[in-house]
Amino acid sequence: MAIEYEMPLGMLVRKMYCAGCGTRLARKQVRKTYQRGEEGFRNTLSTGSAVNVKSYTTVTYVYRCPNCHREITYEDQVRVAKIQARTGSKILPEGAKPGEMGREGSDK
Ligand SMILES: [Zn+2]
Repeated sequence: MAIEYEMPLGMLVRKMYCAGCGTRLARKQVRKTYQRGEEGFRNTLSTGSAVNVKSYTTVTYVYRCPNCHREITYEDQVRVAKIQARTGSKILPEGAKPGEMGREGSDK
């Protein structure tokens, strides 16, 4: 079976911290298997290796806090990290959700 790994480069090089408790975040693997004909199935993976397979598995990664067990996608955590850098505090107010906070500067 084909397996495709997808990890943003930034995940390898950046240290990220939980907005809830300030603990350094760990990565967690998320595996998903697609069968041919299923929604989301692609005939060609980015590696080009999965043509003509019946099924394949993608492995993606999210951040998971080892302390408070929050999970967050890389994209959301990037937004959180910007706010953490700006405020100088790793722990952000509970009401501050990345979707609401991260827009400034990136609006087109
Ligand atoms: Zn945490």
